[in-house]
Amino acid sequence: MKITGGCHCGAVSYVVATDNLPPSYACHCLDCQTTSGSAFGLHALLPEDALQITGELSDYRYEGAHPASHHRLCAHCHTRIYNTTSAAPGMLVLRAGTLHNSAAIKPIAHIWVKRRQPWLQLAEGTPSWPESPTPEAFAQALQARPV
Ligand SMILES: [Zn+2]
Ligand SMILES: [Zn+2]
Repeated sequence: MKITGGCHCGAVSYVVATDNLPPSYACHCLDCQTTSGSAFGLHALLPEDALQITGELSDYRYEGAHPASHHRLCAHCHTRIYNTTSAAPGMLVLRAGTLHNSAAIKPIAHIWVKRRQPWLQLAEGTPSWPESPTPEAFAQALQARPV
């Protein structure tokens, strides 16, 4: 089964070159709350060459206290599709809510939970970190996900 997704208006669509839905995690940091206009960002880490995009993208870049980040959005409806970051070279961070099968996503980890909205209950036993985990700890959590 092909894993596909796209933006709200339909101008941008993509195919993910993996056999299964990529493992997804929630980031509760303030940047994700602001850029998503919601309570958290729902992300999937993929190798940079695993996403085949059709349609015109626009860019948003920022640097600051956090690692430099380069976001790609639909040039028409401005749905955020993915970003790359200096914190994860060679990888991209897909906005998992743009997957056509987003209903099947279960976050396997939560990061930046010190910024979590206080009303939000996290599933018990799901790995979580107050801020960003070390790449090693995070890779372990992604690999240990239930099938
Ligand atoms: Zn669009
Ligand atoms: Zn975040």
